[in-house]
Amino acid sequence: MIFPQDTRRLWVRYAIGLTLLVAMLLGGHAIHVHTLKAGAADAETIDLSGRQRMLSQRMAGLAAKLADPEMRPIYEAALVSSLTLFEDSHALLLDRQAAFPSAARVYAVGQPDGLDAQVKAFSADVRAALSLDHDDPQLRAVLARLDGAAFAPLLTALDDAVKGIAADAQARHADLQQVQVLALAFSLLLIAIEAVAIFWPAQRSVNRAMDTARRRSQELETKNADLRALSNRLEHSTLHDQLTGLANRKHLQQELDIRLARPAQQDHVTCVMHVDLDGFKDVNDTLGHAAGDCVLRRAAEAMRYRTRAEDLVARVGGDEFVIVSDIYDAGDGAGRAQQIAEGIVARLREPMVIDRQTVTVGASIGYTFADRSQDPDPDRLVSDADIALYEAKRAGKGIAVLFDTSMRSGVERRHALIRDIERAVDANEFVPFLQPQIETRTGAVLGFEVLTRWNHPERGILPPAEFLDLAEESGIVDVIDRQAAFGGLDALIALRKAGHAVPSISINASSVALRNPDFAADLRLAVAMRGLRPADVRIEIVESTLIADVDERATRSLQTLAAEGFRVDLDDFGTGYASLALLSKLEISGLKIDRHLVLDIENPRARKVVEAIIGLARGLSLDIVGEGVETAAQLKTLQALGCPGAQGFGIGVPMALDAAVQWLDRRTDLWDGTQRRSAP
Ligand code: C2E
Ligand code: CA
Ligand code: CA
Repeated sequence: MIFPQDTRRLWVRYAIGLTLLVAMLLGGHAIHVHTLKAGAADAETIDLSGRQRMLSQRMAGLAAKLADPEMRPIYEAALVSSLTLFEDSHALLLDRQAAFPSAARVYAVGQPDGLDAQVKAFSADVRAALSLDHDDPQLRAVLARLDGAAFAPLLTALDDAVKGIAADAQARHADLQQVQVLALAFSLLLIAIEAVAIFWPAQRSVNRAMDTARRRSQELETKNADLRALSNRLEHSTLHDQLTGLANRKHLQQELDIRLARPAQQDHVTCVMHVDLDGFKDVNDTLGHAAGDCVLRRAAEAMRYRTRAEDLVARVGGDEFVIVSDIYDAGDGAGRAQQIAEGIVARLREPMVIDRQTVTVGASIGYTFADRSQDPDPDRLVSDADIALYEAKRAGKGIAVLFDTSMRSGVERRHALIRDIERAVDANEFVPFLQPQIETRTGAVLGFEVLTRWNHPERGILPPAEFLDLAEESGIVDVIDRQAAFGGLDALIALRKAGHAVPSISINASSVALRNPDFAADLRLAVAMRGLRPADVRIEIVESTLIADVDERATRSLQTLAAEGFRVDLDDFGTGYASLALLSKLEISGLKIDRHLVLDIENPRARKVVEAIIGLARGLSLDIVGEGVETAAQLKTLQALGCPGAQGFGIGVPMALDAAVQWLDRRTDLWDGTQRRSAP
């Protein structure tokens, strides 16, 4: 296309087109004006030329009166004025005759028989007649030339001149008209060309531009719709949990704010329930995160199923949910809420089939009510429900517990204690106490078990029962384990340095520590750096908290350590339930018979169990230590049953390093004395 596509530059086309049209119009107009003017001028000339004929006749008539002395004075003046007019007109016609070729030929200026010459001769005769007296004989001859046959050729020539001028004017007029027609035709052609070359393409590019604009606006419209949808989705996702589609914490907060801002109603109370799945972590660890996600979705469905549409169910943490429900039983709101909560617990306890495996989780619930008599705080409500939930879990899980203000102080105490434990870890207040293990047959020292004590600045020496559960709960237990383990290694070196043959040191490893890959790496490094061997270290694991199927990471960590030469003992054997499975899965070096069995060993049934355990351990070539030996009789019985190792207050209590050194010293003396006494 000759012209730009850009519609903003269309004006260029229009300007060119309009300029051409204006030029054509002005040209046409000029031709028209010229035609009119030429026509008028020609008409005047024709008129003038025609008047000459009439004037010549008149002058001839007047001249005839010159011979009459009475008439002469009357007509002389008229003749003079006619002559002047005649001569002036002739001069004018001579000027113009060039424009009329046919007339010019009649005038034939310079030729004796031309009209010009005839006119001049006629004028000269009239002038001569005027100058002669009426009775002058020459007058008659002059008058004779002005009349009759002599005069006829002049008239004929004047006629010819008129005809010639008229013919020429007509011819020129016809030419001009033709030019005008041509100009008109050209204008029409130009308009047609402009229409095709300028206005039509311009219109097309306008159409195109409009089409593009329409398309763009449609695209924009779709884009806007997409944006609106996106912002709706965003809005939804900022208020909802992606996995379960339940409300999230933010939504929960908004909802609580709204509900609590409403004026209190007589017929209902607002209940906040905190739900926590029991055993969810096991599912996640055993079956993987996909299965875990599936359980969460099912749990979410179950909670939605058990609540009404106007209740809010929110997911506020990994496996934690909060339900906000208005309970319409003002008489016994607590009873109704308890029913609802128990319904949810029962529903969540039902087995789910995931990936063709049956999975059973459970749930614990803590709940509380908004006390409308004193402006309730939403955060406080949720945390009160959480406190009740904690109590539900402590009371054995799988139940629903109503919040009570007395619970708050317990929680606050626990929080203070956790902070204190964290401080104590930094202040190295956890110290390793050592409890000896001996061989039942010979009394020789087999090793020491590291039992952590908290050397509290105000409360004195505290046993693990005072802090271990909370340390485990808050996840700091692995730091304590590490400090105890390293302290134990140092103690082993110190005991050996003091001159005693101590074969090994036993440390207790929580599942939290074993699950942390750094723990095994740090232990390995600590042993190597102290010049000890892995075989010097026995790692005690509690069977009930370490179920091989469940705790994959801890199991792998233990397998690696065992492969490197560390020995692994099953602690508290005989009380758990998965011990045999563990025995077949892990490379176990020894068993520690639980102290409750040893305590009861005089009882024949307990003795049978201990005997069976010893038989099993023998069959698997495992080391065995009986724990909790308090009396000589218990030691004797263990010895009789063939239990090779023993540990207990009766042998030695857990003690600090220097006390352990003293204990070893005393024992060596005793042993030597015994030997001396028994020597022959
Ligand atoms: P455990 O591993 O079974 O340790 C033996 C517990 O029995 C110790 O209690 C010990 O003092 C006690 N005991 C020893 N002999 C007798 C006896 O003859 N009669 C009675 N009644 N009890 C006896 P302790 O020191 O209070 O430790 C309790 C538990 O704390 C330990 O049980 C162990 O599971 C855990 N624990 C101790 N130190 C650590 C540690 O550093 N890390 C971890 N993760 N756990 C530890
Ligand atoms: Ca132990
Ligand atoms: Ca034990």
